[in-house]
Amino acid sequence: MNEAFCPVCGGPAEIKRVTKAFGRGDGLLVIEDIPLIVCRNCHEQYFAAKTLREIEQLRERQQHHARMIQVERFAA
Ligand SMILES: [Zn+2]
Repeated sequence: MNEAFCPVCGGPAEIKRVTKAFGRGDGLLVIEDIPLIVCRNCHEQYFAAKTLREIEQLRERQQHHARMIQVERFAA
């Protein structure tokens, strides 16, 4: 997906790759190269619904991973 259209003005938008941090403390997750859609016309910035779903999935996976690390420590 290289082309997108702005939901605000309908203008052409481009995909930028950004790094963002989500959550805080133990739940902090930094995700690199997230596709951010930026309108060339009105400069509106937003994530596609698909991208937001993928971010949610990454965060859930990270929570499972954190729990696994904790179990390993208890077993040692
Ligand atoms: Zn726009």
